[in-house]
Amino acid sequence: MSTSAVVIGAGVSGLTTAVCLAESGMDVRVDTDRPPGATTSAAAGAMWDPYLAEPSDMVERWSGETLSELIALSAHEGTGIRLLEGTQESRVPCDMPRWGPQVGARMCLPDDLRHGFVAGWRYRAPLVDMPRYLSYLVRRLEQAGGSIRRHHYDTLDEALGEAPVVVNCSGAEARFLVDDLSVDAVRGQLVVVENPGIRTFFCDDTPGAEDLTYIYPHADVVVLGGTAERGAWELRPDEAEAREIVRRCAAVEPLIAEARVIGQRVGLRPVRSRVRLVDERHGGTLLLHNYGHGGAGLTLSWGCAREVAERIRVTVGTSA
Ligand SMILES: Cc1cc2nc3c(=O)[nH]c(=O)nc-3n(C[C@H](O)[C@H](O)[C@H](O)COP(=O)(O)OP(=O)(O)OC[C@H]3O[C@@H](n4cnc5c(N)ncnc54)[C@H](O)[C@@H]3O)c2cc1C
Repeated sequence: MSTSAVVIGAGVSGLTTAVCLAESGMDVRVDTDRPPGATTSAAAGAMWDPYLAEPSDMVERWSGETLSELIALSAHEGTGIRLLEGTQESRVPCDMPRWGPQVGARMCLPDDLRHGFVAGWRYRAPLVDMPRYLSYLVRRLEQAGGSIRRHHYDTLDEALGEAPVVVNCSGAEARFLVDDLSVDAVRGQLVVVENPGIRTFFCDDTPGAEDLTYIYPHADVVVLGGTAERGAWELRPDEAEAREIVRRCAAVEPLIAEARVIGQRVGLRPVRSRVRLVDERHGGTLLLHNYGHGGAGLTLSWGCAREVAERIRVTVGTSA
């Protein structure tokens, strides 16, 4: 008989973990108090970008594994993943990030930079339409025999009785579920506009910049970023913030000024000093935590999920 596992959470961390476990032969159920389309993951922009995450050695490995997987998936219809070219640019001189060579980044010539920017690098990386991608992960989970149940856990103890293996992928809400005060929400708001013909991405990567400014063009829409407000849990969009996002993006890319606004998204980045990926024994249950990915949850998703699957394989095997 295959080992059964319960994964708490249907964001990108929970669904990717569940897919890895189900495809390794485990009997997996995802328990989540919100559907995938209502998670922080669904709100994300979202590009592969190993943004300020720790521990740095593991982040390098996890993000590298995820990059390979997302590139491979971009070749398949219906995943919502595309490889897109664009630039990250800075208003002050700065070096290319360490991960630049992984995506073939090269420094921009001065003429390639937008007005007000003095350094930048151009590269091609996966851009993910998150609502579509989460739907793809759900289909893939179901094809591997997994299921999803709407359920809220008040305490983690409640979950420990559900299966011999429990994986906690509760994102920012881990603060309440496992009383981990070191994880906090960093609220992010985005604006979605009709695509006025933008074909390349842009991200302001000025070190220490107070505002986030990025432009992520999907086929018919462009996702404009954004905000980052620590300790804010409000999920309703703020109209003044939305206008300010559009203003900043239009200052960089004038085509945005006339684009019709068609939606807004809000999510809570699960920010922690380090990603929490550990395993613990609780009586007869193996509990693993996989949360705290901050602004890089998509970027780390496959690497972290595979590490969870490997820890389970080593500890209990897949036929316990
Ligand atoms: C505006 C914005 C832009 C972003 N852009 C990017 C980007 O470009 N690239 C990138 O890599 N990352 C980006 N991120 C970060 C990324 O979205 C997060 O790191 C990622 O979504 C976290 O995923 P998760 O699955 O861990 O958590 P979530 O998506 O928050 O999912 C948590 C799940 O746990 C469930 N849950 C929580 N508590 C309980 C409970 N008690 N009982 C039952 N279920 C529970 C929830 O219902 C949910 O299903 C962005 C985030 C935001 C907000």
